[in-house]
Amino acid sequence: MCIFCKIIKGDIPSKKVYEDEKVLAFRDIDPKAPVHILVIPKQHVDTVDQLEDMSVVADLFAVMKKIAAEEGIAGSGYRIVVNHGKNAGQAVPHLHFHLLGGRELSWPPG
Ligand code: AMP
Repeated sequence: MCIFCKIIKGDIPSKKVYEDEKVLAFRDIDPKAPVHILVIPKQHVDTVDQLEDMSVVADLFAVMKKIAAEEGIAGSGYRIVVNHGKNAGQAVPHLHFHLLGGRELSWPPG
């Protein structure tokens, strides 16, 4: 079982910010911005490349929009990132969206 599935199951602790029957959101353990939240589908999918049920994306985006408002970063702006595979540096093989904000973010990413 992957580390994020263990977090979903409750076997590994996390700082949850949102949960429903399909989606879990929790604070990144190594935050790269004042707000850095991971938003994941509860159903395991390795990467965005493996995703078949695209309705999952709508669920995740609805949650990210809600969290951004709650975290107070909707007005100042934020970034949503999905890393896929080696060149993007994907470390955890469970689809996840990074929601980053709370400071000015440089572009392009390194
Ligand atoms: P990625 O490089 O896109 O696969 O991102 C994986 C993210 O998961 C990294 O930002 C890690 O800091 C984060 N991460 C790894 N383990 C945990 C954990 N147990 N709780 C919260 N975040 C984690």
